[in-house]
Amino acid sequence: MRSVADQWLREVLLTLYRRSTATRAEIMAETGLHASSVSQAMRPLLRHGTILKVGDLESNGAGRPREVFSLNPDAVYFVSVDLEAQRIRFALLNFVGDIRYRWEEATGWEERLEVNKVFHGISMVLRNLDSRQLSRLLAVGISYPGMLDDQGRLTAFNLGLHDFPLLSELREKASAHRMDHLPIFIEPDRHSAVVAERWLGRARGYQNGLLLFVERGIGIGLFLDGKPVEGWRNMAGEIGHWKIEPGAEDPCGCGKRGCLEAIASSPSMIRQYLESTGQPSSNLSAFRITDVFEKARQGDPAASHVVERAAKAIGLALSYAINLLNPQIVILGGDLTSADDLFLPRIEREINQNGVPQLTRGIEIAMSALGLDMRLKGAGALAFRKSLADPALLRKMCSPVSLARGSVLPAT
Ligand SMILES: [Zn+2]
Repeated sequence: MRSVADQWLREVLLTLYRRSTATRAEIMAETGLHASSVSQAMRPLLRHGTILKVGDLESNGAGRPREVFSLNPDAVYFVSVDLEAQRIRFALLNFVGDIRYRWEEATGWEERLEVNKVFHGISMVLRNLDSRQLSRLLAVGISYPGMLDDQGRLTAFNLGLHDFPLLSELREKASAHRMDHLPIFIEPDRHSAVVAERWLGRARGYQNGLLLFVERGIGIGLFLDGKPVEGWRNMAGEIGHWKIEPGAEDPCGCGKRGCLEAIASSPSMIRQYLESTGQPSSNLSAFRITDVFEKARQGDPAASHVVERAAKAIGLALSYAINLLNPQIVILGGDLTSADDLFLPRIEREINQNGVPQLTRGIEIAMSALGLDMRLKGAGALAFRKSLADPALLRKMCSPVSLARGSVLPAT
């Protein structure tokens, strides 16, 4: 086999991941590579079963039909972990970003992160892989909320973590769980969300967008002029602690009052509902946010007030963000996806009332199609992108796929 430049392999694989399917001409147009470079990269990938021919498009003139290619879903697997939310979520993702298996580890709304739970969850996912799939497992991607400093210490107010040594804890516990052979890539939740929506979700094809997701905290992901916005310390978009209701008494995990997160995160909405119905706020973990949403749908005044206030706060924060960033699309995710009927019209109303018309006219406000899987899929996609940059993992990705009974033979 002639040696093929790693960069060509990377670009072909990345293009197929992002587009799902592509012809040779589309790969050339997207990567800017010469036809012979694309052919040299694709030949071993097809022979080894890393990519597959999935069909033909009719010729758009004289000549042969155009072949359509995709990644082989079973060529590579990733485990992804989402640390945000009431439960830690785990998934096995195949090479095209589909979730093949899920696992959850329970945590309370106010419980601190236990790194042992992360590895227990990963081991529960691995338990469901057969030996062939295990041999094609490439890496683990973990999406974390909050802010990570230069020393790998995480501050995530809504997880109750201040300067928590996330990186060293992960390394230490990986060794204790005999998983130190498995590469682990960690990513801020906002990056996971942006990549998931741009590669696999509603933001495909958009160059300027903003994602806002509500769960245990409130996070935001940004991409402008086609590029993710990261900021000086990789912390751009910390919208959860914008003081959105000056004078409000609602306590926030950051120590201040009246932050967006203190009014509109899922546990904050449950807390307000409990308080206004005279129930102890220690009941927080006994309630699900969907219970509050359901009560609001039934016309319960306390639940309706909580939803109205949260939607108003989110809409107001978004109107400021839209004025600052001029996005073409705003995508709402997390727990909001189970209550689009309650939130979408209210948030749109607030944006229209407070935004500058020249910026808000024609803007698309949409619910994430990925729902609660947004960051799980994004963490897997980012683990894929980081694996491409590692020569040993790239080789493993491109190594011959042994064919299990019943699997699809690659076109040769
Ligand atoms: Zn705060």
